Amino acid sequence: PWPVKTLDESLSYRHQFLSKILSVSYSKPIQMENAAFQYMYDAQGNTFLDAYNNIPHVGHSHPKLVEAGQRQMAKLNTNTRYLYDLLPQYAEKLLSKFPAPLNRVFFVNSGSAASDLAIRMAKWHTKREGIMVMEHGYHGNTQISIDISDYKFSNPKGQGQKDYVLKVPIPDAYRGKYSHELENKGKKYAAEAVKLMGKFNHPVAAFIAEPIVGCGGQVPLAAGYLQELYPEVRAYGGLCISDEVQTGFGRVGDHFWGFEQHGVVPDMVILGKPMGNGHPMGAVVCTREIAESFEKGVEFFSSFGGNPVSCAIGLAVLDVMEEEGLQENAMVVGDYYKSLFEQLQQHYANIGDVRGSGLFLGVDLVKPGTKEEDEQLAKLIKNQLRENFILISTDGPKDSVLKTKPPLIFTKENALQVVEEMERILIKLKR
Ligand code: PMP
Repeated sequence: PWPVKTLDESLSYRHQFLSKILSVSYSKPIQMENAAFQYMYDAQGNTFLDAYNNIPHVGHSHPKLVEAGQRQMAKLNTNTRYLYDLLPQYAEKLLSKFPAPLNRVFFVNSGSAASDLAIRMAKWHTKREGIMVMEHGYHGNTQISIDISDYKFSNPKGQGQKDYVLKVPIPDAYRGKYSHELENKGKKYAAEAVKLMGKFNHPVAAFIAEPIVGCGGQVPLAAGYLQELYPEVRAYGGLCISDEVQTGFGRVGDHFWGFEQHGVVPDMVILGKPMGNGHPMGAVVCTREIAESFEKGVEFFSSFGGNPVSCAIGLAVLDVMEEEGLQENAMVVGDYYKSLFEQLQQHYANIGDVRGSGLFLGVDLVKPGTKEEDEQLAKLIKNQLRENFILISTDGPKDSVLKTKPPLIFTKENALQVVEEMERILIKLKR
């Protein structure tokens, strides 16, 4: 019975065949029909502004991408066991975005597969088992990815922390042990991690973290943290992995990668989400040394990773980013967007913190005068924005942080629309 017209019919059709473990956004779900650039259109003909989705990086249904995919799909699609130049061409272009030591790439189909592979490679390279992970971190849905994701394994319904996993405190400059320190917060959190690493009963093969912890509630690692910690991890014989699935590809504005904001170079980088603008792509980027040691093990093969269609689409994403100056746009519009939230914060004590950079921002909602998370308010604002045709998400351990990470073509007018609508909601609440 398709097309299903009412919301209830649409939901029950879905539940007839799919598990309810697949969540649906918003109290009142949306029947989505199509999308173009930063807009999405539902079955009832409403237009939504997408301030939520960090996957359609250069915009939904971008014509250049659609064309690149269609053309290549009609020409050749195969696995990497044949020679086709698109593969090294794309690899070369992608690696040109990285600092020199990061010069090898392994293609897969998701961020989860990339996390999984990176951990496997790190363990192989170091001949160690321990993995040091970030409090509230998330790296994917495979068993290994879940095991290294505090966001999942510490959930009351989760599988718990494995003995080879060491969790270190999130270096949060707003909340947390050292948030009240005037300076050197990052250094102090790093010293704590080093202490834990020294005492851990499994030698650490790798330390993995996002530069801005997305699921943790858009928490940027405190300044100086990685600069202090990376050398310690290496001195100890471990590798440093940066998960750039959410923060990568120019989203943070001032740099192409989140780790660059911290003045460090990781040994391995995990890529996903925006890489194919919605076409399923992921990758592990690493040093030649790590790639060469991996070559000594069993063959690595992915049926779909690095196929010509994916390479054509991945190349088109990078081309469009350059042609349309999207990293620059993320910086300019992102700075403006953030400043609007900061102005709002001046007037509403419900906003405890505004953080992030470029088009990757978080607005931390609190009970006025405290830092106590206000998840009810976050839920209310998210759903009221949806009623007013603006898509935004919530995240963080208490789900109390509004999270906005729109396509990089987002405009200042779009930003103003979100913040004005949010103010209208806050005014109504005040009354
Ligand atoms: N790492 C991070 C930081 C993520 O946010 C996600 C997805 N939310 C993943 C890895 C896993 O990516 P995927 O869903 O493509 O498997």
